Amino acid sequence: MYNYFLPDEYVKDIFHIRPEALKDKGIKGVITDLDNTLVAWDRPDATPEIIEWMKSMEDAGIQVTIVSNNNELRVKEFCDPLGIPFICNARKPMRKSFQKALSTMNVRKEEVVVIGDQLLTDILGGNRKGLHTILVVPVATSDAAITKFNRKIERRIMAGLKSRGLIKWEE
Ligand SMILES: [Mg+2]
Repeated sequence: MYNYFLPDEYVKDIFHIRPEALKDKGIKGVITDLDNTLVAWDRPDATPEIIEWMKSMEDAGIQVTIVSNNNELRVKEFCDPLGIPFICNARKPMRKSFQKALSTMNVRKEEVVVIGDQLLTDILGGNRKGLHTILVVPVATSDAAITKFNRKIERRIMAGLKSRGLIKWEE
């Protein structure tokens, strides 16, 4: 059961995920979370670094879809200026939105990575769908109310993973 919460990779931030490296592995699509993965959950728009990262993906021919559990107002406001397709109210860890993103990008499971900052939504959802998952350290140390609750459970799962020797990194 713990394996479902185990990301395939763990990186400090999104900028450690490089388009060249993805391309070498045959990756054609990225499904990424928004809040605390790309920017702090309470920042409405993208940073110049994120805009550049998105552009580097596009230049490499890698499609990006933002899949967020947040509402349309928040997600649309962030994505529209970037021209990035999105799925809001995604209800991760449910599998439906991941399937939708795969279909829209017209890519196979093996050609996609899922990026997110939460074990309970992003990683669990991606793993359930059989996708390659990459956990990032949350951008902000604060969280929205619902996420605060999830983090409590997450800390327990992390402890469980550690005691089973399933994770190697240090927090
Ligand atoms: Mg998040």
